[in-house]
Amino acid sequence: MSTKKRSHSAERKKLVKELDKVFGKIVILLDRKRCVVCGKTENLQCGHLFSRVAYSTRWDFMNAFCQCRGCNYRHEHDPTPLTLYFINTFGKRAYEQLYRKYRTPIKYSNEDLKIRLNILKGVLKRYETDGYKALPRRIKTT
Ligand SMILES: [Zn+2]
Repeated sequence: MSTKKRSHSAERKKLVKELDKVFGKIVILLDRKRCVVCGKTENLQCGHLFSRVAYSTRWDFMNAFCQCRGCNYRHEHDPTPLTLYFINTFGKRAYEQLYRKYRTPIKYSNEDLKIRLNILKGVLKRYETDGYKALPRRIKTT
């Protein structure tokens, strides 16, 4: 691998890691620091409904929720509780839309990731002054 290619993929790794971190912080705030499945307020994580392997929904607020460590771990072999929470809260159509998005491959350039990261950092910064109203909204589609 050329030096240029290597530095490009190292940069990419770093961007993805940072995006996960900033996005995860926002998700936890968005759910008011409570596990959406069981209501716990400790050991909170950012859990994905559909696997974060797919970049199309990895940083989509409709696909990520505040979960406690236990519920997030359980989701790997039993996605039912989080799926039910989602459908009860946002509707079946929202679920189908999200699933389609999850199944539609997308390619982000490093530049795209940088832009996304800056937007999310801006959200966190605004949260410091404006509180919850600075956060994005999740949309109910019935
Ligand atoms: Zn929980």
